[in-house]
Amino acid sequence: MTARKDEHMEAKLQRSARRFAKPFVVNAMGIVPSGFRMIGEFKGQYYFLSNFYPCTILYKGITFPTAEHAFQAVKTSNPDEMAWVAQASTPGKAKYRGRQVMLRPDWDYARLKEMFNILTIKFTGDLMSQLRATDSHQLVEGNYWHDQFWGSCLCARHVNIDGYNYLGKLLMHIRNS
Ligand SMILES: [Zn+2]
Repeated sequence: MTARKDEHMEAKLQRSARRFAKPFVVNAMGIVPSGFRMIGEFKGQYYFLSNFYPCTILYKGITFPTAEHAFQAVKTSNPDEMAWVAQASTPGKAKYRGRQVMLRPDWDYARLKEMFNILTIKFTGDLMSQLRATDSHQLVEGNYWHDQFWGSCLCARHVNIDGYNYLGKLLMHIRNS
């Protein structure tokens, strides 16, 4: 990545941080401004925030190996197709299968609620503790696959256009619940 792209990316992350920032957070050091503290990509030590992270999700009577599998499966109400998505060997393959199912007619309206339901199931116990430990950070699903709905794409074309970041917003909502 060139230095110029790095600059653009940094500027985008900082704009997002300001937008999502609470004015102050309390941490071990006392009250500090929170505006520039952000987890901008769900990888490395923050991979557990990604929907691809392995964790058992029991939803609608089906056991899924990742949140991604569950989310892709509930795009359809056809039980055979749901099972087919659940059986994908990787979350990437589940995502691919999710593009081929018969979409529920209400999907555009239902998808945020479904993601919320699945994340609520995912973030219990240890994972919820890990999520709570990110409390002083804004969560933004920075990506390079042009997803401006669930995250905020960092490619050259999108880097100056903030994404809606609904995945990050849902995670922060659950974290504060
Ligand atoms: Zn993009």
